[in-house]
Amino acid sequence: MRNCKICQNDFSQKLTLAFIVSFKPYEKQQICRNCREQFEVIQASTACEGCGRDQENQKCCPDCKKWRLIYPSYDFQNQALFVYNDFMKESIKNYKFNGDYQLRTVFQTALKKKIETIYFDYLVVIPVDSETMSSRGFNQVCGLLTMKHSHFVKRNDTVKEKQSHKNRHQRLELVQPFTLSSDCPDLTDKVVLVVDDIYTTGRTLFYAIDLLASRAKCVKSITLAR
Ligand SMILES: [Zn+2]
Ligand SMILES: [Zn+2]
Repeated sequence: MRNCKICQNDFSQKLTLAFIVSFKPYEKQQICRNCREQFEVIQASTACEGCGRDQENQKCCPDCKKWRLIYPSYDFQNQALFVYNDFMKESIKNYKFNGDYQLRTVFQTALKKKIETIYFDYLVVIPVDSETMSSRGFNQVCGLLTMKHSHFVKRNDTVKEKQSHKNRHQRLELVQPFTLSSDCPDLTDKVVLVVDDIYTTGRTLFYAIDLLASRAKCVKSITLAR
């Protein structure tokens, strides 16, 4: 018996004969079947080719069409693992805001597997601002990663401060919130994979991509949820 990392209920992992004869490596499950089934895995065959959202086909979704007008030169391809449904929302909220740090190991495994299928030279984390960092105590994206990653995209903290004094219309105007750190490596001929927890409007990722695209050979991105 094991304890589910989400609902805390006890569960057992049954080994089926089909699994045993498949010779696949045994993987210890961390959450119960009931919880697992509430996460909707996004299939590549039915994900938007631009943002990776779950839909009927791979065609560019209306959101991505708008982004392509703003950034016509990008070959924007985001991959997302799970649908940002209510269960995912609640799970991420518990992880980010209630400090449920146990939960991160559930996402770590899934994210690691996906990242291993993507070619890149640098894995770059979307930073949190210093205010969030001091109240939360951790960068939620770093907490999801078990592999080497870089922090050369920094948040420009003065932007957020200035932004809060503006009205909504002014805020929607483009103000790059990120900057590259002085120790940023030479990205010529390098493939950068940007990682974030959630893709909602795409705004955050596009800022980071905009910053990196002129320096790197290629910029890709991956998010836990879309
Ligand atoms: Zn459970
Ligand atoms: Zn899309």
